[in-house]
Amino acid sequence: MDPGLPDKYPLPSWWLQNAKNPLSDFQSTPNLPHETDILIIGAGYTGASTAYHLSKMIGKDCQVTVLDARGVAEGATGRNGGHLIPYNHRNILRDVELFGEDYALWRRDLEWANVQEIASFLYDEGIADIAEVQKGDNVMAYCTEESWEIAKQEVAFCKKHNREWGMCEVWEQQEARQRLRSPDVLGAIKIEAYQMFPAKWIWEVFQRLIKANAVQLYTQTPVTAVKSTPTGKWAVHTENKGIIVAKTIIHCTNGWMGHLLPELREVCFPVSEQVMALKMPKQIWKERGFVWHSVAHYLIQRDKDNIVIVGGGRSTIDGKNRPFIDHETMDFLGTGLGGMIRANDSSIYPVLHTDIRQFVRSHFPNEDWPEYEEAEWAGVQGYTKDHLPYIGPLEHAPNQFVSAGYNGHGMPLCWWSGRRVAEMVSGKCNAADDIANIFLPRQRFQLPSA
Ligand SMILES: Cc1cc2nc3c(=O)[nH]c(=O)nc-3n(C[C@H](O)[C@H](O)[C@H](O)COP(=O)(O)OP(=O)(O)OC[C@H]3O[C@@H](n4cnc5c(N)ncnc54)[C@H](O)[C@@H]3O)c2cc1C
Repeated sequence: MDPGLPDKYPLPSWWLQNAKNPLSDFQSTPNLPHETDILIIGAGYTGASTAYHLSKMIGKDCQVTVLDARGVAEGATGRNGGHLIPYNHRNILRDVELFGEDYALWRRDLEWANVQEIASFLYDEGIADIAEVQKGDNVMAYCTEESWEIAKQEVAFCKKHNREWGMCEVWEQQEARQRLRSPDVLGAIKIEAYQMFPAKWIWEVFQRLIKANAVQLYTQTPVTAVKSTPTGKWAVHTENKGIIVAKTIIHCTNGWMGHLLPELREVCFPVSEQVMALKMPKQIWKERGFVWHSVAHYLIQRDKDNIVIVGGGRSTIDGKNRPFIDHETMDFLGTGLGGMIRANDSSIYPVLHTDIRQFVRSHFPNEDWPEYEEAEWAGVQGYTKDHLPYIGPLEHAPNQFVSAGYNGHGMPLCWWSGRRVAEMVSGKCNAADDIANIFLPRQRFQLPSA
């Protein structure tokens, strides 16, 4: 499906409602320049990382321009659940089955290293306070015998391969119920993780890049088409500011990537996710982040204001009951996510509202849940048919690159993927046999016949 351009009037997330975006309507110059060396489309987490890493890799004479249809971090980055969680044991046996042992272990090593690197970056650069970073760990709760059994096998598999990735606590039923304050949990596993205010971090990165004169940024500038020119450069058409010509283009448009790259529409999909913010009278749990395995709900509890951000519900509802589905053909690896394919973050879906409310009430019946939400919103994620992100050059479009499609789990990956694509663009990626080449777009989609 064509995701179209980002909606003009998205619902404000709690994050975007509770902080003023300094780069909501920012133009580096009154008019869009006619030309640039490198053009990044999308100013979310991936666009920020790409621009940041490029600034370390290219000369000052190479102009980098960033365009976004909205303000900075007003796509998925400004509407997500606030979790920074490495995969660790989670779903590792599924990945072994689908992609092999080497990949499954490498991906976890990568995410773990990346989470540590992000945390160091945020603390070392003095951004951690700005981004309200909490080292609050993450607990995955299991409510079915089958999922709990598999989880323990996953932990055993990691141990067998000498992979610990920091702390890993396994809580059997009694402990899990007590610590989670939830009566129906069969077991839980706690790992190291962080929570944060994602948009604030990305605003800060862009502000520093602008101050250093490392990028030119134009927000509120939707790109409507990318066309070839006789010179081999690309003409990038915008809805409201004319055309800018670029030698190199990097698509960091995530859930919307199919709009400018129609050849990817069969393999990359916008998937809508819903979240709400609830103000609790007090802190409830010692840990600050939770994911409910079988129903894919997730929540964080913020230290600062007792706000609980809770979202998900993607697999609790039969996709066939939803009006915007293509459930028969789009069953993402059996997760039922086909039921949520839509590129819409300007409205909420009432069934999901009820679902999230039921989740908190039924799993935490003793808590004093408020009657009203502080905010409720939707966000657009980029999903891929093979469940792997697309990171690298588009071989049929010379000097065009993509970094997108994180399947709802971008926080531990986008920083690395931005660097990876920056390395490719600047010619510093020397990795012919690198296992990360599994993310290259080549051969993962079919070009329409001419
Ligand atoms: C509700 C929700 C909850 C989530 N929770 C978590 C979580 O807790 N943990 C986690 O790891 N991940 C989570 N994710 C996923 C995570 O937020 C994303 O993987 C990550 O933010 C992707 O960043 P990005 O920069 O690639 O995409 P985005 O932040 O979506 O940025 C893409 C940008 O491209 C712009 N754009 C698109 N098309 C065009 C165009 N044609 N012209 C100009 N600009 C364009 C958009 O305006 C947008 O700003 C969640 C996502 C959502 C939606």
